[in-house]
Amino acid sequence: MSDAEESDFGISRDRKTRIVATLGPASSGLDEIRALFQAGVDVFRLNMSHGDHADKVQLFKNIRAVEAETERPIAILADLQGPKLRVGTFKDGKVELKQGEDFTLDLSTEPGTDKRVGLPHKEIFAAIQEGTHILLDDGKIRLNVEEFTSTTARCKVVVGGMLSDRKGVNVPNAVLPLAALTPKDRKDLTFALKEGADWIALSFVQRAADVAEARKLVGGKAAIMAKIEKPAAVTSLDEILELADGVMVARGDLGVEEPVENVPGIQKYIIAKAREAGKPVVVATQMLESMINSPVPTRAEVSDVATAVMDGADAVMLSAESAVGEYPIEAVAVMNRVAIKIEGEPTYFANRKDDNISMNDTTAEAITAAARQVSGSIGAKAIVTFTTSGSTALRAARERPSAPILTLTPQMSIARRLSIVWGLHTVKTKDINTFEDMIGKSKRMAMRQGLAGPGDRIVVTAGVPFGTPGATNVLHIAWISGNELK
Ligand code: PEP
Repeated sequence: MSDAEESDFGISRDRKTRIVATLGPASSGLDEIRALFQAGVDVFRLNMSHGDHADKVQLFKNIRAVEAETERPIAILADLQGPKLRVGTFKDGKVELKQGEDFTLDLSTEPGTDKRVGLPHKEIFAAIQEGTHILLDDGKIRLNVEEFTSTTARCKVVVGGMLSDRKGVNVPNAVLPLAALTPKDRKDLTFALKEGADWIALSFVQRAADVAEARKLVGGKAAIMAKIEKPAAVTSLDEILELADGVMVARGDLGVEEPVENVPGIQKYIIAKAREAGKPVVVATQMLESMINSPVPTRAEVSDVATAVMDGADAVMLSAESAVGEYPIEAVAVMNRVAIKIEGEPTYFANRKDDNISMNDTTAEAITAAARQVSGSIGAKAIVTFTTSGSTALRAARERPSAPILTLTPQMSIARRLSIVWGLHTVKTKDINTFEDMIGKSKRMAMRQGLAGPGDRIVVTAGVPFGTPGATNVLHIAWISGNELK
């Protein structure tokens, strides 16, 4: 992105909800990434479970090249694999587990049979009890622990099926004594921070301490998104939200760890809690799954995206649809159209006002709430916020105003991070020193970014005197004459 004080490149999105797209073999070239951005992607997700670092270096380069061309900040979300549990291998590659039969998990490295297989995670044996459910291969196979020691678990097969080498294991009802980051995660994290990732997503977060541990390693170089995919994380959501910068409703694993019918209610709960905390929330996985192979979505998928938008999520996410699917651009275009349509429904902003957010009685929050009310009453074309840490912008987004929020920040890293947040149109600018500077710059930027024109009014919020983070105490209504750019 150019360092010019003000850009004339006014690409803005006609929607508040943001779109996250996972990159993969179907979408890794510069042309593909540019086309995805133009179709509406705000944030690119790199899944550290797949591919090597050399491939990812090229993705970072390609994304930053698109960012430089379009002069819009783009966030890169590096999603760490986390402590994914897997069974070992089998003598013949796979076995059939039959309902009602016994099957033993143990710490042996011997190849498995239809009677037993290795499970190289001693932490599981330390946490299970009689009656613990163990799920294999994305929950397709279910076992019930009948007898256990510190190295073995004899289970009854409750739901059988074919089990092959290194399939995934879930233990939904136990909090496992696992470190938040595996050695692979630590290497991937070091790499992602070196390449300039803006967000780090943590998989299989179980407790707030996992986020705290990651935060120490990240050291402020990126924002942290906790993926909520374990029942224990749902239970600890308040504490996790205090320590994380955002959360993801990771419905893939959540739907394995929880009965699938619980997932929609949990999704609504997480969205509401994140909104209350003023932290961005992403709804992920299988949103447009059929579009992996089809240029049009099912009606149910459209309804699913619409529900996330209606509930006020900050962002909706594509996984396999954009990473390996045949129609990545079409999938983004569907999300874009659904978000625009739903945000235009008469109930959309009315519902936002009814969302039950408890305000703290601070001056900053009172001014931010007033900015929403005033901008609505006078039909202001934009609310302008200045932010150094990003917190003023997050507060403005939490209010869910119908006017666009033009966020001005001197920090490129903050501009990028904020591109995942509902309703923010962020521009990197030089710092400002006086109130007059700020009003002048707000007017010029609102015009240059295509948000307002001659005769329009904008609402500007700021902290005076300048330089005290979070001290928003002024609300100013500015009128644009049209002479500002001359
Ligand atoms: C999920 O489980 O929904 C998810 C987003 O995580 P991953 O795709 O890394 O399994």
